[in-house]
Amino acid sequence: MNSIDKLTELFTKFPGIGPRQAKRFVYFLLTRDNYFLIELSNAIKNLKADSRICESCSRFYSKKYNSNLCDICNDKNRESDVLMIVAKDADLTNIERVGNYNGMYFVLGGFVSVLEKAPEQRIRINKLIDLLEKKIKDKDLKEIILALSLNPDGENTIDYISESLKPLLADKKIKITTLGRGLSTGAELEYLDDNTFQNAFKNRS
Ligand SMILES: [Zn+2]
Repeated sequence: MNSIDKLTELFTKFPGIGPRQAKRFVYFLLTRDNYFLIELSNAIKNLKADSRICESCSRFYSKKYNSNLCDICNDKNRESDVLMIVAKDADLTNIERVGNYNGMYFVLGGFVSVLEKAPEQRIRINKLIDLLEKKIKDKDLKEIILALSLNPDGENTIDYISESLKPLLADKKIKITTLGRGLSTGAELEYLDDNTFQNAFKNRS
């Protein structure tokens, strides 16, 4: 396969990128000088080596921040007993941008689709349970917020998590809420605007 087709094919693997847009990226790159292309390929080459996953919330962050926990988990001014569960890093970034949530997070790393046979391999459910066990032991948990997009995969993930956490939360005074109300069906948390998110957050139930 020639380089143009190869790179086009690779770009189509990006979320939300179709073949036409992928081709636009390739032609854009062909118009740039070599310095830009080397900078881009180095940034991609070093991305994994320079990043790590937070031991608590599982989000990606730069190794330059020299700690096993990310800056959010290390922030003593945040409410440590409220935990918001999101599907992916981009959702967390968008919620942080809106800025009215001051609790902690957990990043699942994906969704559980309706026909999934091995959900525990699709999302970090075991890591979530470990974290919750620790928080319950430390008496550091009063609310779990399921912040997942309202599409079939999101709703199925909510069901799967609620079911998985049942034994852990039985007889405990810990609220589980979802951002359901105030979100329209199919809404993607990654792209929510400030007002929609603030309303969904205020009306969580
Ligand atoms: Zn963290």
